[in-house]
Amino acid sequence: MIQFKSEEEIELMRISSLMVSGTHAALVPFIQPGVTLKKLDKIAEEFIKDQGAYPSFLGYNGFPASLCLSVNEEVVHGIPSDRIVKEGDILSVDCGVKMNGFHGDSAFTFPVCVTDINHLNLLKVTLESLTKGIQQVKVGNRTGDIGYAIQNHTEKLHGYGVVRELVGHGIGRNLHEAPDIPNYGKKGNGYRLIAGMVIAIEPMINLGTHKVKQLKDGWTIITADNKPSAHFEHTVAVTKNGYDILSNHELIFNEIKNSEYITDFQ
Ligand code: MG
Ligand code: MG
Repeated sequence: MIQFKSEEEIELMRISSLMVSGTHAALVPFIQPGVTLKKLDKIAEEFIKDQGAYPSFLGYNGFPASLCLSVNEEVVHGIPSDRIVKEGDILSVDCGVKMNGFHGDSAFTFPVCVTDINHLNLLKVTLESLTKGIQQVKVGNRTGDIGYAIQNHTEKLHGYGVVRELVGHGIGRNLHEAPDIPNYGKKGNGYRLIAGMVIAIEPMINLGTHKVKQLKDGWTIITADNKPSAHFEHTVAVTKNGYDILSNHELIFNEIKNSEYITDFQ
């Protein structure tokens, strides 16, 4: 069942979602070759808890960390380990925060000293597809309109693979609520969008095949052909007039301008 939010509740969700983006921004100075994934996770956990909030992923279905950190061929749900970030890596940072009873959820993929233009293009196009998906958020449109826009831009126009097994979702008092928001679909299909819905839109786009598999750790999803994958996500409210993006990637891009190590891909 879809849980609709009041305007007051959407403002609470904005606070949680902005804290997620603030966490991403706070991580930027630490994202550089040589840092371990565990260190990034610890920084995020402390940053969130210092503000009286809770990392949504920590303990969720037994997940052992505050961030999902997925490198290169890892699509999503990577567990922070002692792995060291290297030049040329693309690092997906998925983060959730719960505050005042409501979750925010957003993801951003960072290219660390990346020179491969194909990898930078994958990030650029995936982020563009998120924007195109969000532009379909209006009362009366359906979830299939969002999925179609994302799939058309990434798969049809650029020949990338859209992950089918994992999808976006409603969000609110629970991290994952109805309805599912697939990154593929047909115009006019799926659930009708109604003001007061809040959804997480999160294209997971592979350079090669759309097919994925799960590692034996029970969490990490990787591409079937080991080619890289990108992931960007916003928490978005459906309003009377269209959409309201509650998380904010500009906070992250402002920090990236000061980073020696994160490659500009916009
Ligand atoms: Mg997420
Ligand atoms: Mg999500």
